[in-house]
Amino acid sequence: MPRSEAVAAPPLRRPAAALEKPTLVGLSREAMGDALAERGVPQKQVRMRVSQLWHWLYVRGVSDFDDMTNVSREMREMLKTHFTIARPEIVEEQVSNDGTRKWLLRFPPRGAGRPVEVETVYIPEEGRGTLCISSQVGCTLTCSFCHTGTQKLVRNLTAEEILAQLLLARDRLGDFPDRDTPAGAIVPNEGRKITNIVMMGMGEPLYNFDNVKQALLIATDGDGLSLSKRRVTLSTSGIVPEILRTGSEIGVMLAISLHAVRDELRDMLVPINRKYPLKELIAACRAYPGLSNARRITFEYVMLKDVNDSLEDAKLLVQLLKGVPAKINLIPFNPWPGTNYQCSDWETIERFADFVNQAGYASPIRTPRGRDILAACGQLKSESERMRKVDRMAFEAMMIAGHGEDD
Ligand code: SAH
Ligand code: SF4
Repeated sequence: MPRSEAVAAPPLRRPAAALEKPTLVGLSREAMGDALAERGVPQKQVRMRVSQLWHWLYVRGVSDFDDMTNVSREMREMLKTHFTIARPEIVEEQVSNDGTRKWLLRFPPRGAGRPVEVETVYIPEEGRGTLCISSQVGCTLTCSFCHTGTQKLVRNLTAEEILAQLLLARDRLGDFPDRDTPAGAIVPNEGRKITNIVMMGMGEPLYNFDNVKQALLIATDGDGLSLSKRRVTLSTSGIVPEILRTGSEIGVMLAISLHAVRDELRDMLVPINRKYPLKELIAACRAYPGLSNARRITFEYVMLKDVNDSLEDAKLLVQLLKGVPAKINLIPFNPWPGTNYQCSDWETIERFADFVNQAGYASPIRTPRGRDILAACGQLKSESERMRKVDRMAFEAMMIAGHGEDD
């Protein structure tokens, strides 16, 4: 397998002290206004200043107050003294041989904590580009086939840190307007490199609901980053009470990590099933606000050899989802060092897909992307838990020996 190209991270562009200051990124307009007013911006100017900053941060993508050319020097000095809008540090940027990119980002400590690291993945495809964003460092859930699940939860990411993954990826991909385009220029949707975002990185987004909500509302704000809500998908292992809130308060597309259609098996694969069993999960899906044939729920189903890939499982799946506007995404299992699972054979996956498809559900098989740089679904983990070199070599040998032939 060709080795991935590791790109040296650019040097830190800001003094460490800047990290201590409160950020303006990820605040609601109201909170940003309050922060400015506290620093002496006259009340009658606050609205205008917030709009101005919003535009610089989210349309122009600046990460340095000095680039805000229509803001007076005095105001810029005040902002620099009290706030930061700096991007996180890039510890590593890797480019897969299929064009997938993965960034390992380091965020400064919050309060007394330590710096944390998370991974963000960009997947370019014909006609679109998807950014896979993390919501937590590690995960409290322990799905048995997921690499992230073997890493204990370190902490929730803040709204700023969730949003920063999108801002940084747009920087690195050249996806903000050039410095010299006229003020107000927005990269039109069809010209963008990042057209879609999926909350499918590390962590369970519905266990960090408030921060995820705030970040996604900013990402979809029409005066800023302006991603369409139909192009934002939140994936959950099935935290039932928060599913309804996702629809009513955020309004993005929903994906459910289903993976099994019998409670005994799902209890093992996705242990949160013991708390929210299939019946409750599917009832919550049926009640998802805005659900229609044009806004279907995606059910993710990882294909595990001899575990959940029989035709009997396919039949039960179709029965379970009867009447739910759904699309079933079959995910070939992505191996990671230490796992006991194997990916189903290709013929088995196709047979399963055909059955589901004939029952009237779209059932695309997800092409594994970025496996060579451990960027594929369920392979993410952060620096604190990154593979020792010897493990990495053993893993690569395993991939070459047969698990990675479809890369
Ligand atoms: N915690 C959320 C979102 C992150 S996981 C969730 O569970 O939905 C994104 C998707 O990748 C989920 O469907 C997850 O079940 C799946 N996944 C996890 N490990 C995987 C692996 N090793 N191979 C393939 N898919 C995996
Ligand atoms: Fe957490 Fe999702 Fe992995 Fe389960 S599949 S351990 S919920 S990240």
